[in-house]
Amino acid sequence: MKVANGFEYAAILDKIAPKYLAMEGDVIGLQVGDLSKKVRKIMFTLDVLEPVVEEAIEKNVDMIISHHAFFYRPLKKIDTSTGQGRMIRKLIKHDIIVYNAHTNLDIAPDGVNDYLADALGLTDTETIVSTYQEPFVKIAVYVPQDAEEKVRTALYNNGAGEVGNDYKDTSFSYEGKGHFTPTGDADPAIGEVNEPTIVNEIKIETIIPKHLEETVIKAVRSVHPYEEPVIDCFDLSNLTYEQGLGRVGLLPKKISMPAFIDHLKSELAIENVRFIGDIGKDVEKVAIIGGDGNKFIHQVKRTGADVYVTGDIYYHTGHDLLDLGLSTVDAGHHIEKIVKSVLKTKYQKEADNLKYDVELIVSEANTDPFLFQ
Ligand SMILES: [Zn+2]
Repeated sequence: MKVANGFEYAAILDKIAPKYLAMEGDVIGLQVGDLSKKVRKIMFTLDVLEPVVEEAIEKNVDMIISHHAFFYRPLKKIDTSTGQGRMIRKLIKHDIIVYNAHTNLDIAPDGVNDYLADALGLTDTETIVSTYQEPFVKIAVYVPQDAEEKVRTALYNNGAGEVGNDYKDTSFSYEGKGHFTPTGDADPAIGEVNEPTIVNEIKIETIIPKHLEETVIKAVRSVHPYEEPVIDCFDLSNLTYEQGLGRVGLLPKKISMPAFIDHLKSELAIENVRFIGDIGKDVEKVAIIGGDGNKFIHQVKRTGADVYVTGDIYYHTGHDLLDLGLSTVDAGHHIEKIVKSVLKTKYQKEADNLKYDVELIVSEANTDPFLFQ
């Protein structure tokens, strides 16, 4: 077992919620602290508020992992008479790291919106608002036969060869002759300086999403026996799957709106919701966007959902929803608290695989600002 540091635990979150998926202008990643610190205890939270920081100090937590950012606005000063100033002082004094994933975790496959959709038992889910798509790159590597498997494994282990959602480790290879003449200060793995050389080689071809190009080339170079491996990359016009916010899917069977609201309350552990629209309508197709869903009502309407579940609906958006005929449940932004236990489970699995010695807890502080009377 190993005591890992903040960088190693940050890397786990970056794998669950890749940073490139975050929406422009979002605040993600390191918020406070030094990632080189050894981490023995991690606490998961939705928000970083004073009771959460107090709880972290009391429980000897080394790293807080949150969904919502600690700093949304750039700081001009640290005034320790304010709540935020006090929190910064306490976090630094107790050497606690704060690290977060926000829209990247909302959008990620198997991220917040999928957790919510799963909690409601939705199937055949699709993304509502597309936010990310990128081109593929075709990569071809020429390798002497005895190093073929090593190079192929390096390609696969770094994300090459994934086709669709259900196929991985795909590649195509063929045999040929590699020709080269080492010159100057070359120290060739095969052949001699100034002697034309011919080697039985394999050409391995596969695909990678564009953002992985550099990582994959580096990984291939690190295992390839040649000093100067030949690696060709071609930009393709094929695009990766669309990724984005929100999920729309089907309940196992059609139910009444009040039955759906009861189901939602019990599955998401909430006391009350606000409802807009037609309470007499039956529900089968459900759209859900965790967090502030005001901006997306037209996209949701186009999905044909019977009901839209989100949080933070404004008064005037409520009127727009009535006008659109889109029944909506404002379940509150706090439904995203589901991230705490889900992230804990995912981290436990990764830590066990990597043999990291760490204690994982979820914050028990209630960060919902609303009380229902
Ligand atoms: Zn949120």
